Amino acid sequence: MSDPFPSHNCPSCGGAIDLHAPDIRIAMCPHCGSGLFLEDDTVKNLGVKSTIVETPSLIKLFQPFHYQNTSYLPVGQVRFDYGRGFWDEWWVLDQKTGQGQWLSVDEGDYALEQAIDIDCLAAASQGAEALRQQLKHGTTFNLKAPKQSAETVRVTERGEGKCIGFAGEIPELLQLNESFDYAHLSGAQQRLYTVEISGTEIQLFQGYWIDPFLIKV
Ligand SMILES: [Zn+2]
Repeated sequence: MSDPFPSHNCPSCGGAIDLHAPDIRIAMCPHCGSGLFLEDDTVKNLGVKSTIVETPSLIKLFQPFHYQNTSYLPVGQVRFDYGRGFWDEWWVLDQKTGQGQWLSVDEGDYALEQAIDIDCLAAASQGAEALRQQLKHGTTFNLKAPKQSAETVRVTERGEGKCIGFAGEIPELLQLNESFDYAHLSGAQQRLYTVEISGTEIQLFQGYWIDPFLIKV
């Protein structure tokens, strides 16, 4: 894949930043490690350096991997602390379509997820605080995802996360060290949903577990 995406210069060190993906909002300067905020044609220094401590990982930034006949390129990594440990979210691009997804890695558990409309979860219409109260382990909800019939989903994990570092290129604005609520919900046929509530903002993701033994690097 050639690099048709914008090039910038780092406001801290002047080094060239050649993006690997479209719609990137946050990037780490590969030369000096400064966190940069990208908006339209402007680049601003976020005033933070990347803080990810590298650990042995099957997934590595900018090293393609294959899963079930699809080749993915990881371009960004975000690390979240959940109290007992951490998990990583990798922003991976399908190298054929260019479409991005989140690959969530929590020790041996791997899941591919993408954002879906929050209206798919009826209970979200009551607002962030009401949903926060309702999201308890074992609670069920009605959910109607695109191209699927309505289903009942059950909360299988509930917790609080905090972004503690990032690397590479990220399509979202991150709030470092700010806590948010999350819940994992299980549907039929291995389907997985994740709700994230940060302040008054609710995000919903749909995905599925993948078998890490089928990932070929
Ligand atoms: Zn730099």
